[in-house]
Amino acid sequence: MVYGVLQLPWSYLFLRRAVTIRIMNKGKLRYSIKRTAHGLGFFTEEAIPSRKRIIEYTGPIISNEEVDRRKAGKYFFGLNTKWSIDGTPRSNIARYINHSCRPNAEAIISRRRVWIWSKRAIKAGEEITYDYGKEYFNEHIKPRGCKCKKCSENNHKSGRR
Ligand SMILES: [Zn+2]
Repeated sequence: MVYGVLQLPWSYLFLRRAVTIRIMNKGKLRYSIKRTAHGLGFFTEEAIPSRKRIIEYTGPIISNEEVDRRKAGKYFFGLNTKWSIDGTPRSNIARYINHSCRPNAEAIISRRRVWIWSKRAIKAGEEITYDYGKEYFNEHIKPRGCKCKKCSENNHKSGRR
C-alpha cells in the first residue's frame, strides 16, 4: 500500500458532527493506493466535497495516430480527434483510478488538460472512480466483464458470477 499527499487547487471548510469540529483542508489531500478486486485503486483518506477538482491526469501529449501505432497501452486518455495523453508514467497517480458504472467522480477535459472532479460528496476511505466511457468500456472492460461495485452487485443478485 502506498500513501501520499496531493496538492489541490482548492481548499475548503467543512463541519463534522453537528457544528462542533471545523476542519480546514489546506489545499492538500491524503490518499492511498490499495489493492482492489480489479488491481490497484486510488482511495481518498479525507472527505471531498461535491464538484471539486481532485487530481490531474498527466503525461506526454501524443497524436492519436501514435496511440493506434502503440496499441498495447491502456493508459491513453483521448483529448479530442487529434490528441491523447499518454498516462503511462508512474508520476501520473490518476492512472490508478478505476472505472465504475456508478462513479463518484468524472474526468473533465479542458483544453489539453484532464482533471478528475468529484461528482458528489465523497467520504474518507472511499475509492475514487470515474466512467471510462463507452469506447474504452466496450474494447477493454466488457470482454472480461466489469468488476465495478455496481456490476458486481447486479451479478450477485441475478445469481451469475
Ligand atoms: Zn460496471
